[in-house]
Amino acid sequence: MPKQTLLGLSEQELRTTLQGLGAPAFRGMQVKEWLLKGVSFDKMNNLPLSLREKLKESFIDQPVRIVHTARSQKDDTQKMLFSLLDGTCVEGVLMRYRYGDTLCISTQVGCRMGCIFCASALDGCIRNLTAEEMLGQTVMAGTLLPEHGRVSRIVLMGSGEPLDNYDQVVRFLRLVSSKESLNIGLRNVSLSTCGLCEQMDRLANEGLPVTLSVSLHAPNDRIRRQIMPVAKTYPIEKLMVSCRNWVKKTGRRIVFEYALINGLNAGEACAKELASRLRGLQCHVNLIPLNDVKERDLQGVSAKQAKEFCAWLENLHISASIRRTMGEDIDGACGQLRACRLQQESFEEREG
Ligand code: SAH
Repeated sequence: MPKQTLLGLSEQELRTTLQGLGAPAFRGMQVKEWLLKGVSFDKMNNLPLSLREKLKESFIDQPVRIVHTARSQKDDTQKMLFSLLDGTCVEGVLMRYRYGDTLCISTQVGCRMGCIFCASALDGCIRNLTAEEMLGQTVMAGTLLPEHGRVSRIVLMGSGEPLDNYDQVVRFLRLVSSKESLNIGLRNVSLSTCGLCEQMDRLANEGLPVTLSVSLHAPNDRIRRQIMPVAKTYPIEKLMVSCRNWVKKTGRRIVFEYALINGLNAGEACAKELASRLRGLQCHVNLIPLNDVKERDLQGVSAKQAKEFCAWLENLHISASIRRTMGEDIDGACGQLRACRLQQESFEEREG
């Protein structure tokens, strides 16, 4: 039988586990603190050596390891390649802002939604991540911060469709925000979906105060279906019903993501249609000039075009802004996470 991992256990479960190894219960608390700092059994230096050895024999400390990192020369963004126990890997991105550190994590190895502009979808979905593996990414990213800090914000915008892995994602949200774990407030967590309506409706009833981002990318079904297969299952009108339901149930606004693609969705007519579609809905539009994905023949827009589109929306009283792209030089920007593909390429080996 494969060894069990300990990171996802509650304090009580850890106490019981340690008592099973003949250690006093208070060691559970110590082990928990170390695990949440991303420390391996070997380095838990307030535990007796014999206990560390026993733990190593029977358990695995961390379900996720950082195998490579790449740091942007432009803005201090870091991309991480995380390896999982079964040898698969996913990427994460750590962005340093003045007001805190934001971590972008993955929820699946690959993705099966098939958006044509997104690199995560290139090889389909290999498997769902567990809640513990999502927590593991968060814990390990903390080890890259000065003095083993803790990230302040999390966005579920790495590879994968979070709502296609509903149960584990919800478990992760409860885990990461619990006081005895990392205690990261869910108001500081954003979940991004391509728009799986049933799961959005279900999430609205969970009582989790996360920010919901919806990848809209088009003002109508005709354009949306060209770039997002999910639009064939859920027409935009149905999606809007789920969005309105979200706002009604949670009292929170929705953030729409809109990647501007040259010649497709970036003209004034699209801005007008989008504005009328969103009228009356408590929302904000996040505009992102599409990041080129080499494998596809789609191009982003210039900064000037993005500003123009933003102004068209604002003139129609739709709240909008242009998202700063970070980490472009390390392919860390949206839609550029290619998980295992880059394993051999642009990463530099992490020391230690
Ligand atoms: N599956 C989820 C979350 C992962 S993608 C979702 O679809 O929302 C995170 C965001 O990056 C989404 O808004 C996605 O549409 C966007 N994205 C993907 N590829 C992109 C690209 N090439 N340029 C800009 N944004 C992109």
